[in-house]
Amino acid sequence: MKIRSIMLIAASTLMLTACATTTKNSVSGVNRSQFLLLPASSVAEMSAQSYQQTLDTAMKSKTLNVDKTMLSRVTTISNRLIAQVGVFRSDATKWDWQVNVEKNEALNAYCMPGGKIMVYSGLIEKINATDDELAAVIGHEIAHALREHGRERMSQAYVQQFGVQALASLLGGGTTGELVTQGSQIGTQLFFTLPNGREQERESDRLGLELAARAGYNPNAAVTLWQKMGAQSQSAPPEFFSTHPASANRIKNLQDLAPKMMPLYQAAKQK
Ligand SMILES: [Zn+2]
Repeated sequence: MKIRSIMLIAASTLMLTACATTTKNSVSGVNRSQFLLLPASSVAEMSAQSYQQTLDTAMKSKTLNVDKTMLSRVTTISNRLIAQVGVFRSDATKWDWQVNVEKNEALNAYCMPGGKIMVYSGLIEKINATDDELAAVIGHEIAHALREHGRERMSQAYVQQFGVQALASLLGGGTTGELVTQGSQIGTQLFFTLPNGREQERESDRLGLELAARAGYNPNAAVTLWQKMGAQSQSAPPEFFSTHPASANRIKNLQDLAPKMMPLYQAAKQK
């Protein structure tokens, strides 16, 4: 009885701290409650270290920011997008944002937790991306960071790996059999109600589209971007496509959402 009441308090505390939505309500309609067990500070620290390692390696192999014109273009577009992140979460305006371009044939771009952007030259060159299309892909990647999808996936992996004991200790430091069992049940429950990577992708498509529109980039470019990507994926499927399939469904969803973002784009253009 005693343990049960402790469990109830502990469980609700965990739910409150671990299940929250990272971004404010916006036109994109993205407001899913998220499972964020690991502290944001730890995730940000891990990402910053990993990003710095990538920069060091690229620097040594002389592949970092080689094309200054390309870097300046990517930086200008990224900065316009970053100027709008406060719409989705005010703390992100104070992140240590970084933008770099790696000379790499692969079709790839990412934004690590805390705002560490990397665009591969291959992405820009192979699809001959317009500024609007580049904004669509960078906006999508920034949206992953704003939604803290990386932290979410890491938290899921943490529960999968250390589930029972880790959750039990989080739930008040108890070590009794009942506590462990209860912790396990809660962990499993949370785990099975978690959406998959596809849901995170869908969110980033929606939020990224709004971010780009607010920065004055044409929302229809997200459609042509994924059409071009789709054409590339048929010849040689790069790694990017395993997590970012240029599916008909993805393109259709973006097509449907673009008109909703048009007023934001037009308003931004008039500024
Ligand atoms: Zn994505």
